[in-house]
Amino acid sequence: MTDRYQSFTKSSIGKLLVKQLGLPNPVELDRYTAGAPLVKGTVLVGGAGKLAATLPSTLEGLGIESATSVEEGAKFKGLVFDATGFDSEADLVQLQQFFTPVMRKLENCARVVVIGLNPREVKGGARIAQRALEGFTRSLGKEIGKGSTVQLVYVTPGAEGAVDSTLAFFLSPKSAYVSGQVVRIGTNAKKALAKVDIEQPLAGKVAIVTGASRGIGEQIARVLHRDGATVLGIDVPQAASDLQAVMGEIGGTSLTLDITHADAPQRIAHFVKEQFGGVDIVVHNAGITRDKKLANMAEDRWQSVISVNLTAPERITRELLTQGAINKNGRIIGVSSIAGIAGNVGQTQYAASKAGVIGFVDSLADELKDGITINAVAPGFIITAMTAAIPFATREVGARLNAMQQGGLPVDVAETIAWYASPASTAVTGNVVRVCGLMMLGA
Ligand code: NAD
Repeated sequence: MTDRYQSFTKSSIGKLLVKQLGLPNPVELDRYTAGAPLVKGTVLVGGAGKLAATLPSTLEGLGIESATSVEEGAKFKGLVFDATGFDSEADLVQLQQFFTPVMRKLENCARVVVIGLNPREVKGGARIAQRALEGFTRSLGKEIGKGSTVQLVYVTPGAEGAVDSTLAFFLSPKSAYVSGQVVRIGTNAKKALAKVDIEQPLAGKVAIVTGASRGIGEQIARVLHRDGATVLGIDVPQAASDLQAVMGEIGGTSLTLDITHADAPQRIAHFVKEQFGGVDIVVHNAGITRDKKLANMAEDRWQSVISVNLTAPERITRELLTQGAINKNGRIIGVSSIAGIAGNVGQTQYAASKAGVIGFVDSLADELKDGITINAVAPGFIITAMTAAIPFATREVGARLNAMQQGGLPVDVAETIAWYASPASTAVTGNVVRVCGLMMLGA
């Protein structure tokens, strides 16, 4: 599936029309290829908080070249600003002082990361200044253009050493379609952090991916395999041959069942224990839409969506936990949707199910033990069979109304999940990150 409008803008007539009519002109986004360096260029480091002194060596450990001053003619592929030292609103001007002079020195698809302290964990003026960072990063994300992204990473005091996997993700092309996000790091920070192989962070890990026969689920399976995991792909019996084809290519195992069946959680838990002894990563990707306005919504249409998207992931997770089938430092990852955050016409039950996924993350994040984390992704407009079914005009509008002016690819969701899944992301829990190119409308 390709973006035909984006291909058109690259033709000579397309270029002319884009210029004359001021049409959207989406930049071709950088995407990660296995074995490539995380950042092809230099990252400028600024700010004077708790991380500033160690950031250059942290980046060096990730194979990322950094600078702390701006040489004549320099160009940057990324900017990292440590704002953890801000303790009153008077400090906010440092953002203007650091960023304004370098905004025109950024390459295409540049990465900006601001690091702050979680406002809820600081008091007084610091809380105000730290909260203000959110408005700054979201606005910069909307205006930066050229396929560049901007994120805010809030670190719990004491978790300063737990940012590596998050910086690796947000500074690299792996986060191509993620922008304007606020991530919190820290709840699990006291657990020893694993040192991981950057190329194969999931070596030796077992991952379950539901709905793995096509679309986003297929890419999740492929990316987790690329990162070293053994994948157990689950899908409905009707998708058995597609599922086997994907699993065959990545040396994975197939299990065909309907995740809403009464005995599905027990069957999955039993299978995982028998075959692998336990599972490290559980990705609840399978999902359906059955759109209708509420006035015309039949109960079975309502119930089927809630069952697949919300009830099944919850029942499967509870059963795996009860049976002790999720290994220590396990990762549970939900797939929500921008519709669950901003709402959507004709999707009351879908949005309820996807907002419920966020509630599920919130409720379990506090309960989980043994270093097990839970997070979710909330995809926006991702080019798959699901979005191909949307009528042309609605689809075009949906695909363009974001800071990247294009739809995302399944791999963009998969890379975000791989970041959560990394053993180095122990301190990343309870987060919901949108993979939406920073939607201009809605939430
Ligand atoms: P898709 O329809 O292409 O794939 C969904 C997969 O889930 C299919 O392989 C399907 O057979 C499987 N599945 C459905 N019901 C199942 C069941 N009862 N038991 C087992 N497997 C089942 O969809 P997609 O676009 O790849 O979406 C994947 C996930 O991402 C879904 O949860 C979806 O809600 C979410 N999402 C997608 C988008 C988008 O733009 N495509 C946006 C937001 C959220």
